[in-house]
Amino acid sequence: MKDANPKILLKPERERSLLRRHPWIFSGAIDGVSGEPRAGETVEVYSAEREWLGRGAFSPASQITVRMWTFDEEETVDDEFFRRRLANAIALRRDRLEESTAARLVHGEGDGLPGLVLDRYADVIVGQFMTAGMERWKGVITSLLREMCHECSVYERSDASARRHEDLPLVTGLLAGAEPPELIEARWGGLAFQVDVRRGHKTGAYLDQSDTLPRIAALSRNAEVLDTFCYTGGFALSALKGGANKVTCVDSSEAALATLQKNAALNHLDASRLEPLCADVFETLRAFRDRGRTFDLIILDPPKFADSKSTVERACRAYKDINLLAFKLLKPGGRLATFSCSGSVTPELFQKVVADAALDARRFARVIDRFAQSSDHPIALAFPEGLYLKGLLCQS
Ligand code: SAH
Repeated sequence: MKDANPKILLKPERERSLLRRHPWIFSGAIDGVSGEPRAGETVEVYSAEREWLGRGAFSPASQITVRMWTFDEEETVDDEFFRRRLANAIALRRDRLEESTAARLVHGEGDGLPGLVLDRYADVIVGQFMTAGMERWKGVITSLLREMCHECSVYERSDASARRHEDLPLVTGLLAGAEPPELIEARWGGLAFQVDVRRGHKTGAYLDQSDTLPRIAALSRNAEVLDTFCYTGGFALSALKGGANKVTCVDSSEAALATLQKNAALNHLDASRLEPLCADVFETLRAFRDRGRTFDLIILDPPKFADSKSTVERACRAYKDINLLAFKLLKPGGRLATFSCSGSVTPELFQKVVADAALDARRFARVIDRFAQSSDHPIALAFPEGLYLKGLLCQS
């Protein structure tokens, strides 16, 4: 097998991260390619000393030219390889799927399947095939999912812009099984949601906050709550469920707020205690400050402000801006749950930005709890970059 595949030869000293089983090889580390591999094809990776290091998928258009499939010489990359990795991933979510009908089934590198995201909502599995390697195995993975997940439908949402780095077109549509309904009803984080897998964000919803939703519910009793960037209501509805007096929720998407209202009804929650605002969060926070509005609990869960290292500085200014305003809107003793889903902003940097915000808002604040992406978004120890969502619960 080894000799049959095309080969990648690394430059001297560039094997170190691979020896630590980090799954990415950047184009700058490669000395030569032999055997003319096509995009997505499996390649054998060798050090400058001609030592075999592993086997990965070739992505000639990407800065990340190879993503590793295996570091085991005996392990060939075939249908059975994907069956094993998928079975492993599904087993990790078994308990979660007893309580919920939605979960992330595969989280890329965290499940040894770089470039693949699979989210399950009831009987529909939504896939993002982000790399040339995953594109190559899409058909095999789809058939395996049909077989392993009791005839679930498989719907593709490979419309994330990252596909452009791989020279892959942005595509969406049914891959196998029955066409999913307009809205799928699914449960996670203690609530029921309606999910639009065709037009919703990412695969339809943000399952990465599943584990945090009940924790927000537990903080909300009798509270006046502000949920910013609320999307279809994960936090807002958790707060209502937890006994909030009133929940003000802000998002710029009219469609997201309409679904939020439907989700409130679906969960038999009192929608009269909701104040939905279709508006820009930056402007709304300023308007609330000017009017002297205050809250017991504020949630800041913005979209990814930094999508690469070069945008970290600008992102930090935006994080500081909203956190500073939020501290000003907190009642004495109030709590701020603040998140960043930008992978390139580290937890240390994020905490520093929040500290700067409190300082400029002239509020004494302390961290009383921490949040991270839910456990169905695992982080391979060899790939710490897999930790992208982090949050702080601050009390002031
Ligand atoms: N908390 C949500 C996820 C938030 S995703 C959940 O757990 O489900 C980010 C949301 O911010 C999206 O719904 C998007 O429509 C909204 N958004 C992005 N920029 C915005 C802005 N400047 N003002 C208001 N909403 C914004």
